[in-house]
Amino acid sequence: MSKKIQAIRGMNDLLPKDSALWAFVERTIADLFIAYGYKNIRTPVVEKTDTFCRAIGQATDIVEKEMYSWHESNGDSLSLRPEGTAGCVRMMIEHNLPREGIQKVFYQGAMFRHERPQKGRYRQFHQVGLEVFGAPDAKVDAELMMITHSLWQKLGLKNITLEINTLGSSEARASYRDILVEYFSSHKDQLDEDSLRRLESNPLRILDSKNSAMQDLINNAPKLMTHLDEESDQHFEQFKAYLKALNIDFVINTRLVRGLDYYNRTVFEWTTTDLGAQGTICAGGRYDGLVEKMGGKPTPAVGLAIGLERLILLLEAQEIDLHNQPLAIYIITPSESAQLQSMQIAGTLHESMANVIIYNDISLGSFKSQFKKADKANADFALILGEEELNNNQVSIKPLKSQEQQVALSLDEAIKYFKDYT
Ligand code: ATP
Ligand code: MG
Repeated sequence: MSKKIQAIRGMNDLLPKDSALWAFVERTIADLFIAYGYKNIRTPVVEKTDTFCRAIGQATDIVEKEMYSWHESNGDSLSLRPEGTAGCVRMMIEHNLPREGIQKVFYQGAMFRHERPQKGRYRQFHQVGLEVFGAPDAKVDAELMMITHSLWQKLGLKNITLEINTLGSSEARASYRDILVEYFSSHKDQLDEDSLRRLESNPLRILDSKNSAMQDLINNAPKLMTHLDEESDQHFEQFKAYLKALNIDFVINTRLVRGLDYYNRTVFEWTTTDLGAQGTICAGGRYDGLVEKMGGKPTPAVGLAIGLERLILLLEAQEIDLHNQPLAIYIITPSESAQLQSMQIAGTLHESMANVIIYNDISLGSFKSQFKKADKANADFALILGEEELNNNQVSIKPLKSQEQQVALSLDEAIKYFKDYT
């Protein structure tokens, strides 16, 4: 017997029962971003491996061990995208977009990382990201916080904290790196294997370690905040002033360095304690040097990415009911003669009303079984096309979620009835 087919571990199906919630969340996000003047872009799922290595940095978890890469027959190494910024930057450079002025864009789609799958951590997952190219001011960083803050409010989410930090200029970061290496080197006996490796490759990431045995050592480490360059210091002050003016609460987390290499100045994470270890639902920061590093003209940039699976998990954990089903009508067609008309009526209803779901029965079962299906579909109304109705050029409407009377109406009256209801 052949083996049962199944999906790849850590790569999930979206089942029909969950699709309304996903669609609602995706629509809410897109509408909000568009309302703030951001334009949707799409980049390929596959890029040259080098594009990711250069953008994300060699000494990162993603490039070191999480990418799905392969060689083409001509020797090119290609990879599935592990995140969205690299492709976005490649696109900006290739099409010379920043030359046309400030670019405010957003993307959405599947990302791929070879991680150990667990709740909130998958091998294929979905991000929605915002990026702004060409604007150095902290006002943009604050706008990103304003948009995400507004999104949590629109979705009714609670218990989300904004954590912020600044990484300074690349020069300040470089000299801080030396100070950190000196500090951790003098405490090598307390470092775990991962951190010993990072001491060489990416010492700032040691601050990111979740190892509880190292927490004291990390808490006592020298702070980048006290080694900031003047301009980055001012930039951070401005960022905070904007947040205060916008009434957006935040905490400063000096250990927040972010996994990716390319950040400078502002970094931030929106976190929650309701999702266990995978508590970051949105993260990002400024990456002023990246466009130039990738071969473009010097272009300041800032961006963020929201993890959609974690956002959905949080909505479920907080039991938020989004009441997002539009009016749903189930057309009940008990007789052979009603089939043609039910199609015409469904067409007319769709033409007359926006935002309505019409289930036109296709089971051709008994009157009773069709009603059962209407209930199962969670329909608000049954629209009945029985013999009597057909003879009188009418339809019957039976409310399924209230005790209201069934009524027989002409189709025009029925449309008015539904419109009045919504
Ligand atoms: P983490 O520290 O949780 O591994 P990260 O720093 O690797 O996160 P980013 O690369 O900044 O994450 O991605 C932004 C967001 O995408 C994360 O905050 C998270 O919500 C989501 N995300 C990242 N990796 C995964 C994954 N493997 N599965 C599901 N969501 C993910
Ligand atoms: Mg990660």
